Amino acid sequence: MTGSATNRATPRLADLIVKAGRVYSMNAGRDVHAALAVRDGEIVAVSNERDGLDALASDGTHVIDDPELTLLPAFFDIHEHLLDSARNLARVRLEDAHSIDELIALIRERAEHTPNGQWIQTSNGWNESNLAEGRLPTAPELDRASADHPILAPRGGHVSITNTRGLQLMGVTRSTPDPPGGTIGHLPDGEPNGVLEGGAAQAIKALVPAPPLAESVDNLADACAIYGALGVGAIREALIQLEGWDVYQSAWEQRRLPIRCLPLLLVDPFRPQAERLAFVEGLGARSGFGDDWLRLWGLKFVLDGGVAGAGMEQPFANNPSYTGHLNWDPDEMTEVVSHALARNWKVATHAVGDRTVRTALDVYERALEQNPDTPRGTLVIEHAFLADHTQRARAIALGISITVQHPLLYVNGKEILQSWGPERAAAVMPVRSWVEEGATVAAGTDTVRPFDPMLNVWGMVTRGTKDVGVQGADHAVDQYTAIELYTSAGTRLTGEAERRGTLQPNRLADFVAYRVDPVTAPVDDLPSLAPALTVVGGRSVHDPDKLLEPASGV
Ligand SMILES: [Zn+2]
Repeated sequence: MTGSATNRATPRLADLIVKAGRVYSMNAGRDVHAALAVRDGEIVAVSNERDGLDALASDGTHVIDDPELTLLPAFFDIHEHLLDSARNLARVRLEDAHSIDELIALIRERAEHTPNGQWIQTSNGWNESNLAEGRLPTAPELDRASADHPILAPRGGHVSITNTRGLQLMGVTRSTPDPPGGTIGHLPDGEPNGVLEGGAAQAIKALVPAPPLAESVDNLADACAIYGALGVGAIREALIQLEGWDVYQSAWEQRRLPIRCLPLLLVDPFRPQAERLAFVEGLGARSGFGDDWLRLWGLKFVLDGGVAGAGMEQPFANNPSYTGHLNWDPDEMTEVVSHALARNWKVATHAVGDRTVRTALDVYERALEQNPDTPRGTLVIEHAFLADHTQRARAIALGISITVQHPLLYVNGKEILQSWGPERAAAVMPVRSWVEEGATVAAGTDTVRPFDPMLNVWGMVTRGTKDVGVQGADHAVDQYTAIELYTSAGTRLTGEAERRGTLQPNRLADFVAYRVDPVTAPVDDLPSLAPALTVVGGRSVHDPDKLLEPASGV
């Protein structure tokens, strides 16, 4: 035991020292170390020798000495909907259904325990490709689950299915026209079939009351624990409305955000232009507000739909008279984006189809002309599913960052193939080209459910999908690059690279440990790897092997 005077003289003693097999920094120099030391939630030292940090150990230091461990920076999901994923925990879990009958039975079971007239909501992480019928259910089918409850069954972020009661509450009949930026599906006899896309799906969601705040906070804390167990240490929350900020701030106040969250606030495309401008004007706060746990990233624009509503240059493969839709008039969007840039907001735009990516770049180009001092990296395109060489070159020249989500191709591959045809399916998310051509690009999931990061890494390396094999092998990247896109690259995109995202001194102590090295493991082994430890800010959020117990000083 050294005296306190000696302690004060020692520059930085450690709370935690990890002596591992490999510690991948994921920094620009691609450094690989053998040990790291943490104090007060930050990395204070790394060493290439396993015993190289022993001098930083004192009585209070917890030491993990395990040469089997490989450390990576904790995953940073650059585009996920954590709050929706949290809300899904309380909803009917349709991911478990394998047929429309099973889906109906799951909803009926909930209806039996729900007072008549109350909404029944399902999770939105399911997909019709999991159903034997390979299609969405219809309103008459959902009526078999309940005719007495309105039902909202969202599928992903852009499509929702409802029953007859829900259509009645919306006031939708066979003669209701499609709303702006949306479509109402019909049965062969002309009656609405309950399938609502884009603006129509948004309209029904607006009818459903939000859950109580306390319940939402509980669900958010539970969801954070689930993501943490998968090795995720931070999430850029890709779309919330103002009430979502209330949930986040409440969780933050109660210290129930064990992983870092950076929300994007939606500018509603389905509001009149004056209201959109007033919304941006009236927010008061702006990009960057918050701390290391909860920080407002910026504003979100949704310019087209998902696969079914993507704005395309050429018609859909399964519908020669349809080219998708844009949700914004480009001139109006330019005005709002420019208004936001002038108020120091960062802006992200959801753009899936090739026409949408081109339009988003047109809008950004004009907004930048009006705001020439805008720093590079202020503007982001989310997904950019179809971006050819010309559009990629424009994005890179304009300093526009890109986010990619292989799990969307993994989960929706079949729908993409059927809707857009094989050539466009293979071109979806040209990750390798983005990297090689020098874009600021980072990876996430966007699946609205906890998605195993290692399955995502596998997907970026193989371009494999759930149902339709490999799509676009040319766009694959190597294992190291895939992990980098999913860790340090995200903090370069958000401008936090000096604060976190790499395992080196003066960075937040956010890391995940595996018992197999994910950089060198055979690629097909990746989906079965599970973290042995996840640490965020020096605190364990997942520790199945009790590596941090007793947690002295940590
Ligand atoms: Zn999204």
